Amino acid sequence: MACIFCQIASGDLPSEILYQDEEVIAIRDINPQAPSHVLIMPKAHIPSIADVTEEQTAILARLVSAANLLAKREGIAEKGYRLVTNCGPDAGQAVSHLHFHLLGGRQLGRLG
Ligand code: AMP
Ligand code: ZN
Repeated sequence: MACIFCQIASGDLPSEILYQDEEVIAIRDINPQAPSHVLIMPKAHIPSIADVTEEQTAILARLVSAANLLAKREGIAEKGYRLVTNCGPDAGQAVSHLHFHLLGGRQLGRLG
C-alpha cells in the first residue's frame, strides 16, 4: 500500500499517535504550522472529503468528535483553533487520504 497515511494507520510506518479507535486515528503533524498541529483521519482510505459517499458520512461525525477531544487535550479548546481539510490541487492537498488539520496555540491568520 503506497498511501503514507494508510501505512501509519496500519502501524507499518511510525508516527506520534495521539488518539485512535476502530475507525479514526490522529497523529502529530511532522511539519507543524502552529504550536499544536494534529492530523485527524479515518483509518480507511478515502482520498479526500469530496470522495465521502452517502454511506460514509458517519465517519465525519467521528472525526469531529476526535477533533473536539484533541482540542481539549492539546489545551487549545478555550482560546480557539482551526479545523480544516484540503481538497484537491488548488487547496494544496499533498496526501490523498482524507485528513483534517487541527491547528492552534497561536493567533491564526485570517482566511482569504
Ligand atoms: P495536506 O497538504 O493537507 O495533504 O497535508 C499533509 C500533511 O501531512 C502536511 O501538513 C505534512 O506535514 C503532513 N505529513 C506528511 N507526512 C507525514 C508523516 N509521516 N507524519 C505526520 N505528518 C505528515
Ligand atoms: Zn490511505
